[in-house]
Amino acid sequence: MHSPRALPPRLLLGPGPSNVHPRVLEALSQPLVGHLDPSFLAVLDEVSERLRRLFGTSNALTLPLSATGSAGMEACLVNLLERGDDVVVGVAGVFGERMCEVATRAGARVTRVETEPGTALDEAAVAEAIARVHPRAVAFVHAETSTGVLQPVETIARAAREAGAFVVLDCVTSLAGVALAIDEWGVDAVYSGTQKCLSCPPGLSPVSFSDRVLEHVRRRATPVQSWYLDVSLLAAYYEGGGDGARVYHHTAPISAVLGLAEGLRIVEEEGIEARVERHRAASRALLEALAPLGFEPLVDEAVRLPPLTTVRLPARIQQAGEAALRANLLERHGIEVGGGLGKLAGSIWRIGLMGENAREESVERLLGALRRELAA
Ligand code: PLP
Repeated sequence: MHSPRALPPRLLLGPGPSNVHPRVLEALSQPLVGHLDPSFLAVLDEVSERLRRLFGTSNALTLPLSATGSAGMEACLVNLLERGDDVVVGVAGVFGERMCEVATRAGARVTRVETEPGTALDEAAVAEAIARVHPRAVAFVHAETSTGVLQPVETIARAAREAGAFVVLDCVTSLAGVALAIDEWGVDAVYSGTQKCLSCPPGLSPVSFSDRVLEHVRRRATPVQSWYLDVSLLAAYYEGGGDGARVYHHTAPISAVLGLAEGLRIVEEEGIEARVERHRAASRALLEALAPLGFEPLVDEAVRLPPLTTVRLPARIQQAGEAALRANLLERHGIEVGGGLGKLAGSIWRIGLMGENAREESVERLLGALRRELAA
């Protein structure tokens, strides 16, 4: 029998993707049904309901967008922003930077509030920018995968709400690994990805929009510049049109949605609190195990992101070239870890313990391999 070309087995401990749960792989390989088949629409509804619980929202418009996390980012920004609108963006790393680029391309005027890589945004500085600019939207990243910082949300979201601005939050690396309460925090538009703490493959972007967002989009002076990402059109498929019937918008990636449904069932079977605690425990175990080898945490404990730990490399590894060591971990031990980005390239590693991989066994495998490489 023909089998697809085999790829080498990998333990994926980089910034994403993470390894896919075997039950998700099985779900992905189910025979196809149509994207308007009632049996598939029932799964789609189940996915939306489970995503609402995981995001902590009652937003009707909560769905798996048919594209990766970057499209989730783009969907949030292009629906809210019209040409000439002001937006305040918190920039604490690469993904805050990407938000600025997307908003600029949408014709918005971007006010950036930056912080040093490895630190959280200064909430007072963001609040000051909001009060000065009176923006249409305030956008920032909850879990900055380029630095390993978990940004506190509530103070910035409150300042935005008080100024009448929409709040956009990137939860790509926090969904299913960190507890989320987006309604309580006052977030209007949120996006994530499937390839991190959900242990599904990349390809879908769970998103959620408040009714306020939908009302705003329906009242806009100009149509949303992206037809594919226009939430008023997406709503007609995911929620149904005026008569409740689903209106074709695009062919949903059926298999990917079946995989996500299984991934979400697994999350709920474990329970989100237990899952969040498992991510915390794994990250702590990693830092304890790495400390004797001279790796130090980049980020202060108060704002450390458990699913993605960033460590400063010992001088001898930096001098010898960290990329060669990562290549050896991959080739000889089948373990992927991530290097630093931008200013942090060459001086840090980004180690993901996400979803199924957030376990002591992952830490032990990495440590064993690292010790052998450093002794060689
Ligand atoms: N935002 C954050 C925080 C991310 O970590 C990523 C991907 O790593 C993205 C956005 C973009 O997601 P994708 O690569 O799935 O398009």
